[in-house]
Amino acid sequence: MSTGKGYLGAVSKSRPNLHVVKNALVTKFDLDGETVKEVKFERAGVTHRVKVTKDVVISAGAIDSPALLLRSGIGPSKHLKELGIPVKLDLPGVGRNLQDHVLVPVFLRMDEGQGEPMTDQAALDSIYQYLIYRAGPLAAHSTASLVGFINTNASSDGAYPDTENHHMFFQRAHHASLELFTKGLSIQDQYTEVLQEYLKDSHLLCVFVLLSHPAARGELRLKSTDPKVPPILTSNYLTESEDVATLMRGIRYIESLEQTKAFQDHLAEIARIPIKECDQIENYRSEEYWRCYAKYFTVTCYHQSGTVKMGPDYDNEACVSQRLKVHGLENLRVADASIMPAVVSANTNAATVMIGERAAHFIQEDYQGEAVGANGGLWVPHMHADEF
Ligand SMILES: Cc1cc2nc3c(=O)[nH]c(=O)nc-3n(C[C@H](O)[C@H](O)[C@H](O)COP(=O)(O)OP(=O)(O)OC[C@H]3O[C@@H](n4cnc5c(N)ncnc54)[C@H](O)[C@@H]3O)c2cc1C
Repeated sequence: MSTGKGYLGAVSKSRPNLHVVKNALVTKFDLDGETVKEVKFERAGVTHRVKVTKDVVISAGAIDSPALLLRSGIGPSKHLKELGIPVKLDLPGVGRNLQDHVLVPVFLRMDEGQGEPMTDQAALDSIYQYLIYRAGPLAAHSTASLVGFINTNASSDGAYPDTENHHMFFQRAHHASLELFTKGLSIQDQYTEVLQEYLKDSHLLCVFVLLSHPAARGELRLKSTDPKVPPILTSNYLTESEDVATLMRGIRYIESLEQTKAFQDHLAEIARIPIKECDQIENYRSEEYWRCYAKYFTVTCYHQSGTVKMGPDYDNEACVSQRLKVHGLENLRVADASIMPAVVSANTNAATVMIGERAAHFIQEDYQGEAVGANGGLWVPHMHADEF
């Protein structure tokens, strides 16, 4: 279920004060002192201006929300001046504190020579099952069908597991699904070929070893004032030794699973992928080997967050208050993954939906008694679009 359909779709016909403009690119906010007065957006090559009578909420995500603030002159003054953007509010934290869940995929061969291969008939059956019954392999949640949260550091007194494992199963001879998957992870063709070779006579299980609480912090900066030019992300993945150490323990955990009876019953074995640089290392599967492997296979889980950090105003990096209002401004809120001070332990989508819910409650509280939506529900700030 998409949040667009779940929230907006559900009320689109019953809320006369809700107006959704599709295919529009918000380019800038104009401020008058501490108040946002106008929002500019482009649609089909035409620039529109929306006069703001109450509040503005930005939910453009952890990449575009800070970019939008920066283009509007809200951010670190030094960076804004470098780009020739007039400084409206010096907010040093905008674009800083970038976090993400990085992961290392480890592949295991299963049931070599014994596994039931995927056939064209089985593929057609699964399409039929899905279309008619919404069931079968195509109805599965992919990597999230089986998720494990593992504390790899027995000596730590941390309250939360430090890694998350996602599992993806590839049935023997199901080459198309493996191809799609390795492309999605940007795995180089030469390594995909090796995995495809294994898949001819084994099932493959891919386990993501995901770093739940990265210590590394990255940064987002504008490359240009042009809203169509994407910003520059410096992720700094694996620049902190503790992050690398956690991933190494996570890989060791997968190695320990390989030795269990359940895995051994399926002839499980970590699939060796020839990597020129790593194969120079004397001991295959030594710590040095896995560090080398991680350099080739580490990928993002697309959980970027933290770039418009929530926190008290005495925190130099904080950008929004606990009620999600931009520090120093009267009527601008941010409600998306960018406000997470630290990325949540697990996948970010549900937590982001919760942030949206909280923002709605804050707005409702702020305007309590002023106006109520058509069905007695949440009051939605009303903007008037001129020239539209
Ligand atoms: C490939 C991929 C797979 C993922 N898988 C999972 C998963 O399995 N489970 C999970 O929990 N999380 C997953 N995530 C992460 C999850 O989708 C995000 O954390 C979540 O969507 C963040 O929500 P958001 O509201 O902060 O940003 P977004 O969902 O990115 O929403 C921002 C919206 O703002 C729009 N926008 C941006 N700039 C502008 C502008 N200037 N003008 C107008 N509109 C603008 C964008 O088009 C977008 O629709 C995945 C992410 C990706 C990319």
